[in-house]
Amino acid sequence: MAKRDYYEVLGVNAKASQDEIKKAYRQLALKFHPDRNPGDKAAEENFKEAAEAYEVLRDPQKRDIYDQFGHAGLEGTGFTGFGGFEDIFSTFGDIFEDFFGFGTRRRGSRNTARPGADLLYDLRVSFEEAVFGTEKEIEIPTSTSCEPCKGTGREPGTEEDICPVCRGHGQILQSQGFFRISTTCHRCGGQGRIITHPCKACNGAGREKVTQKVLVKIPAGVDTGVRLRIPDKGESGYRGGPSGDLYVRLHVDPHDFFEREGHNLYCRIPISMIQASIGDTMEIQTLDSTQSVKIPPGTQSGDVIRLRGQGVPGLRGSGRGDLFIDIQVKTPVNLNKRQKEILREFGEIEDSKNSSERIFKFWGRGNKSKHSKSKH
Ligand SMILES: [Zn+2]
Ligand SMILES: [Zn+2]
Repeated sequence: MAKRDYYEVLGVNAKASQDEIKKAYRQLALKFHPDRNPGDKAAEENFKEAAEAYEVLRDPQKRDIYDQFGHAGLEGTGFTGFGGFEDIFSTFGDIFEDFFGFGTRRRGSRNTARPGADLLYDLRVSFEEAVFGTEKEIEIPTSTSCEPCKGTGREPGTEEDICPVCRGHGQILQSQGFFRISTTCHRCGGQGRIITHPCKACNGAGREKVTQKVLVKIPAGVDTGVRLRIPDKGESGYRGGPSGDLYVRLHVDPHDFFEREGHNLYCRIPISMIQASIGDTMEIQTLDSTQSVKIPPGTQSGDVIRLRGQGVPGLRGSGRGDLFIDIQVKTPVNLNKRQKEILREFGEIEDSKNSSERIFKFWGRGNKSKHSKSKH
C-alpha cells in the first residue's frame, strides 16, 4: 500500500511550525492510543502512521530530506517506520509521559495483557440444518494461558532476570547517519527481562495447547457463506488480556431433490400424460410436510405450481419463501398393442376436434420462443 503523505497524516500544512506538528500529533496519538482502542486494528494502524509521520517531521534534518525527496528520500537512510508499539513508546517515551502521564509506567507493564487472536472455523451443515437451524458442538484447537505459571512462562516461585544485552531497556540504540535508530532487543524481544527458570509445564512459552468445545447456534435460514460471530470464543488472551472472537463460516450441502435460491426452493416433478390431460391431486413431500397438490386439467410441461410458505424461513424471523414445482409431463414409452390402439383412436377424435387449434398453437409457440430468444 502506498504511504500517505506525512503532512496529510498529521493534518497540517507543509509550512507548519514544530509546535503545530507536535500539537497535531498529540491529538492523533490521544485519539488512536491503543489503551483507548483495545483490539482495534484500524486505530493501531493510524497510531503507528501518526507516530511515523511525527518521527520524521519533528526532526528538521529528516523533514528537510522528506520535503525534498518524499518517502523515497528516507528509504536509503535506514528509517523504515516503526515495527510496533514498543518502538513508538521507547522513542517517544518522554513525550508520552507528558501527554498521558504514563510513558514510563507503560514500560513496566508492556509484557502484560494482550488480546487473543480471532479464529475462523469452516463448518459444513446439511441442507435441512441450514433451512431450519440447529445447534452443533465443534472442537477448536487453540491455546490458552499455561495453568501452573499463569501464563508468565516462569517456574512458579522464580523471578525474571534483567536482560544482559539491553540491560533492561528492551531497545538497543544505534547511530546511523543522522538517525538515532532504536531496535528491539533480539535477546529479550523488547521485554527487558529474560526468564532464567522457565516453567516446566510449558517450557517457558506461557501457553498450552487446548481443544475448546464450542456450541454453535445456527439460526434457521442460513446459507453458504454466512459467517457467524461468536464473541470471546477465539484464542484466549495473553496474561489476562481479552479473548479473540470465533467466526464460523458455513458451507451448506446440496439437497438431492430441492434447489435453493435465496428463500425460495425449486424442484421438478414428473407427471403422466394422463394426469396432465385430465388433472389429478398428488401428495408432495415438501421440506417439512406433505402437501396435497392439485394438478389442473391441461397442465403442460414447464408449468410451475407455487406452494406459498413452503420455502426457506427468513434469517431474522421474517416469513418463509415459496416452493416452486416445475411440472414435467412424461411421454409414455413401451406401449402395448392395446394402448397404441386407444391412443390412435384418441388421436383421430382429437384431430377432427382440435386440429386447427393445434396448428395455431404450434406456430404461436414457435414464434414466441424465437422472439424471446432474440430479446435476451
Ligand atoms: Zn507454564
Ligand atoms: Zn534485552
